[in-house]
Formats: sequence, C-alpha cells, structure tokens
Amino acid sequence: MEISNNKVVAFNYVLKNKDGEILDNTENEPLHYIHGYGNIIPGLEKALLGKKKDDKFDITIPPEEAYGIRDDANVQKIERAQFEPGVEITEGMRFQSQTEAGMQIFTVIAVDDNLITLDGNHPLAGETLDFSVEVGEIRDATEEEIQHGHVHIPGQEH
Ligand code: ZN
Repeated sequence: MEISNNKVVAFNYVLKNKDGEILDNTENEPLHYIHGYGNIIPGLEKALLGKKKDDKFDITIPPEEAYGIRDDANVQKIERAQFEPGVEITEGMRFQSQTEAGMQIFTVIAVDDNLITLDGNHPLAGETLDFSVEVGEIRDATEEEIQHGHVHIPGQEH
C-alpha cells in the first residue's frame, strides 16, 4: 500500500536543525497522521506521498514548507493584569492559546513589571529542518477519521 490521500500513516522521524542538533525524535512511539489534511507540515506531507512501509528517506525542508518564516508582527506586549493572578511568568516560558488562527504557541521573551512580551511565532519558524524518516504501517482511514480530519487511536477518542 502506498501513501496517498485518506491513508493513515505511522512513521518515525529524527528532526535536526541545520546545525545538526536533534530537536525532536519519535524514537519508538511513531507519529500517526491522515494524508491530505495538513496534519503535518507541508514539506513532509509532500515527501511522504507515494512512499511504502519500511521506506527510509532524508529530506531538508525550508521554513516556507515547515513552520513558516518569522514575522515580527507576531510579537506583542500584553499587560500583566491579563494573566491569571499568582502565576509566575518568566522569560522562556511557552504556552498554548486558542486564537482565531487555531492553536498557537507563545513564548515569553521579556517580562517587565506591568508588561509581558510574547512571541507568537512558532518556535521553529524560520528554521530549515532536516528529517530522517522511516515509514511504518499504512492503512485506509475510517469514515469517521476522514470526517474529523485526524487519526483515532484506541483509548484517545476525540
Ligand atoms: Zn475525532
């Protein structure tokens, strides 16, 4: 079975930045996605098209096909009072927030007495990424998975 739209694919990967540092690694816990729904970054989805179980490949993906280029407009200052009282906010903290554009990751880049500076760029925005990929099981997605646009893993219903 080849990877094409509406296939559920399991794969393992090692992700490195252009300096060769490992950023992420599925080890033996493969990632599952449905092909054709943007579950994974565009460059990786394109590279997986037509691959088969046990195929291995390396691919370099530019930011435009990964997490996008950095945009300074995504840096904003928020008043301290808008955060939950009693929560300590420190530089380098990351949190997720639901925005009009979907789930977004924010990184705290500066903390003043009254203002918190947040960077809403994805932490990997602007990075060229090197993936080493090994394809695992491939199966047809169920109708429910196709309707939801994501994979259903037993015990993790949603
Ligand atoms: Zn679902």
